[in-house]
Amino acid sequence: MTTPRFRDALDSVPAYKAGKPPAAGEGRSYKLSSNENPYPPLPGVLVRAVAAAGQMNRYPDMGVSALHTALAKRLGVSINELASGTGSVAVLYHLLQAMCSEGDEVVYAWRSFEAYPIAVGITGARSVQVPLDGDARHDLPAMLAAVTDKTKVVVVCTPNNPTGPAVRRAELVEFVDSVPTDVLVVLDEAYREFVTDPDTVDGLELVRGRANVVVLRTFSKAYGLAGLRVGYAVGPAAVTEAIRKCALPFGVSEVAQEAAIASLDAEVELLQRVKELVAERDRVWASLTEQGWPIPGAEGNFVWFELGDATVDFAAGCDRAGLSVRPFPGEGARVTIGEPPANDRLLEVAGQWRAQQR
Ligand SMILES: *Cc1c(COP(=O)(O)O)cnc(C)c1O
Repeated sequence: MTTPRFRDALDSVPAYKAGKPPAAGEGRSYKLSSNENPYPPLPGVLVRAVAAAGQMNRYPDMGVSALHTALAKRLGVSINELASGTGSVAVLYHLLQAMCSEGDEVVYAWRSFEAYPIAVGITGARSVQVPLDGDARHDLPAMLAAVTDKTKVVVVCTPNNPTGPAVRRAELVEFVDSVPTDVLVVLDEAYREFVTDPDTVDGLELVRGRANVVVLRTFSKAYGLAGLRVGYAVGPAAVTEAIRKCALPFGVSEVAQEAAIASLDAEVELLQRVKELVAERDRVWASLTEQGWPIPGAEGNFVWFELGDATVDFAAGCDRAGLSVRPFPGEGARVTIGEPPANDRLLEVAGQWRAQQR
């Protein structure tokens, strides 16, 4: 008997592993495995979202026009330079669908965001993974050297999930100016709002005046809307138009659109929360460094423990202490910055771990 014939490309697509919730145990536990924002929604944002839920018998605004109007004003771009989707991961899927098929190549750093091999694999294109350098940073010269005439897209994740460092200004400018102009450079800036290293560049500066650079941003992390799924691209009109062509109709719900607009309106308060998370991140980084951990520069809302073969044991120890973290077996563990008591507990567990290793 014959069976339905799936595309060959799917055979090599890895499954996405979502961050686990904490194991149920005594006392309070914390989910530090998905880089979520620990703050609950602002009351004003919640009110607007709930009001929009009253319209759920209607389709949302397919053009996402009110949100795009607000974003265009906020970012100083025009509406036709924007495209949105159900999270910036969805925008990346649409973008790759618009650009890639069998025989094409997509270059990105590795280890980086685990959605990349999946999003690339589904299109039938081949992932070309360029190892991070010894400091867990993108090796941009090696990435440039990996570009061939099959390359359609290069993805730069800055700050890099899961290792933490952001790409520096001069190296990134040189990189985007060296990549052939028929290759699209995607700057994934999901954590842009958390960056404090002054030697970095806002990706929007690099979009301006270039036909082959696009920036991806999201409301999931700094703005705390991970559960509502809104992300967007800012780039040349030809690129955002291609993304819109591939997008699912009515993907971004009215609840999500309204919550995103309300979040832009409440940006001052939300960015104050980001500031507090950044202060916690820097406190955690400094304490871990003092404990002797070689933690790479952390520019997002997470820290990276390079643990090699000890990764799974470390994650299990965190779990026992009521912290779920994100292990990458054989490589390391990513831990999200949470509320201060969660961070304190992480420092305790990490300190005990170091003491045992001596
Ligand atoms: C979280 C994250 C995203 C965005 O996810 P969405 O929730 O789909 O917007 C994009 N890129 C990286 C590197 C991320 O870590």
